[in-house]
Amino acid sequence: MAEQEHEHVRVAVIGSGFGGLGAAVRLRREGITDFVILERAGAVGGTWRDNSYPGCACDVPSHLYSFSFAPNPDWPRTFSGQEHIWEYLEHVADTFRLRPHIRFNSEVQQLRWDSEQLWWEIDTAQGKLTADVVVSATGPLSDPKTPDIAGLDTFPGKVFHSARWDHEYDLRGKRVAMIGTGASAIQIVPAIQKEAGRLTLFQRTPPWVMPRADRAITKAERWLHRQLPFTTQARRGLLWGIRELQVQAFTKHPNELGMVEQLAKRNMHRAVKDPALRAKLTPDYRIGCKRILLSNTYYPALAQPNVDVVASGLSEIRGNTLVASDGTETEVDAIIFGTGFHVTDMPIADRVTGAEGDTLMQSWKGGMKALRGATAAGFPNFMTVIGPNTGLGNSSMILMIEAQLNYLADYMRQLHVLGGRVALNPRESAVNGWNNRVQDRMKRTVWNTGGCNSWYLDDNGVNTTVWPGTTTEFRHATRHVDVGEYEVVRAPAKPAAPTTRTKKKAEVNAA
Ligand SMILES: Cc1cc2nc3c(=O)[nH]c(=O)nc-3n(C[C@H](O)[C@H](O)[C@H](O)COP(=O)(O)OP(=O)(O)OC[C@H]3O[C@@H](n4cnc5c(N)ncnc54)[C@H](O)[C@@H]3O)c2cc1C
Repeated sequence: MAEQEHEHVRVAVIGSGFGGLGAAVRLRREGITDFVILERAGAVGGTWRDNSYPGCACDVPSHLYSFSFAPNPDWPRTFSGQEHIWEYLEHVADTFRLRPHIRFNSEVQQLRWDSEQLWWEIDTAQGKLTADVVVSATGPLSDPKTPDIAGLDTFPGKVFHSARWDHEYDLRGKRVAMIGTGASAIQIVPAIQKEAGRLTLFQRTPPWVMPRADRAITKAERWLHRQLPFTTQARRGLLWGIRELQVQAFTKHPNELGMVEQLAKRNMHRAVKDPALRAKLTPDYRIGCKRILLSNTYYPALAQPNVDVVASGLSEIRGNTLVASDGTETEVDAIIFGTGFHVTDMPIADRVTGAEGDTLMQSWKGGMKALRGATAAGFPNFMTVIGPNTGLGNSSMILMIEAQLNYLADYMRQLHVLGGRVALNPRESAVNGWNNRVQDRMKRTVWNTGGCNSWYLDDNGVNTTVWPGTTTEFRHATRHVDVGEYEVVRAPAKPAAPTTRTKKKAEVNAA
């Protein structure tokens, strides 16, 4: 590619969800304008563009589930719906003048590190380009996962995933199967129960469900937030502080969570009077081991006469008949998979080839790991937003994203200080040291000791997704790049002559 005419940028950001848009804002703040945002879809928003299922909303209060640098005094509800969060992200793209940088319909297909030129070669659906630095913000919950069920291809009815809702399909009067009981499923069930003729929930594991303090934010509150912006900050601070305290129980004192289980059981008892149904819905693992779900409408919906709960996973499909692992047979017209995403096997990892010729997927075959949740050994100048062990069980992912953006900002500063054509490649020892510390702390957390099998764990049973501490600790750990944790890679003495276009860009960068 070096000899060809091609576009070169300082930074290529992949994805335009919270992570990608946030990275772009941060780059601009660092004075870097030579960047592109490569987005496979035709609009910004990521999660909040793709998940348009009925009832979709955040489960962390909106005033915390938003950027600290773009507070929104006008959130309509304490837990706002998908359309409002998507609108917010569109607004962020406009406010921070990000649109000229965005390349829609530009799915990134391959990335290869060029050890001579010290840049990434990027193949997209719209052509090739190169970039000194790549920020991968493709999202942990971005590629829907559908289980491999025998007979699924012969099912004559309608099939779709919660993250790819088919709004053309009319559920009224239909016999519908909802597969899964995760965060999306428990929002979908109450939203469709009234219109479905019959709704059957296939539940492998019951979730713990707590009441949801959801309400409309009053006009007076919104007026106050607009007039006195510090009140928005104070509200956010309170929401954040409560969650910082809560996380101690998850990470250090899982046994204390027994008290919280009583509250969740009371939530169920209020709505579900049938003891047999309650028995099916009662989890047998410690609360918090899987994500605690919030809903005031899930249990009441399950108690309705047109709803059945099959307390067993779906194992086979024969024509219109769904067969559960316990042998239960149910005839349905439509199947909705609420079965989550490719989290510990993120698809982008298979498309990135690093300095040693391995893909990131290959290098992570023993489990995902990255220095400070961001950079992987052998993949210079490649940073993942929401990388390994940066997920949260109880608070806003935006806090983690913003911490990682601090790291990105300092990374760019360090490259500038080092000067010239230079790359930072994390040392294997630094990555392993970080990962060992994380995994050591993980041992006593509720996610590892709570007795459940969750999507936080990879195929080897290792928790490579959750951060075992407070967001404050993570923010502290990502404030600065410790260059000592990296090998500083310089271009060979006589690099190939840059193309006209790249030369021009290089001069701009140097200026
Ligand atoms: C239904 C749902 C509800 C959630 N609720 C909450 C919540 O309440 N609180 C919370 O903290 N978190 C929540 N999350 C987690 C949520 O994913 C994160 O909070 C956050 O939105 C992730 O942002 P992101 O930018 O990293 O990823 P995403 O929002 O997933 O964006 C990734 C973007 O990358 C693009 N992309 C992917 N691959 C490529 C490629 N190869 N080439 C080009 N573009 C690509 C995608 O099209 C997408 O636009 C929820 C997730 C889901 C699915």
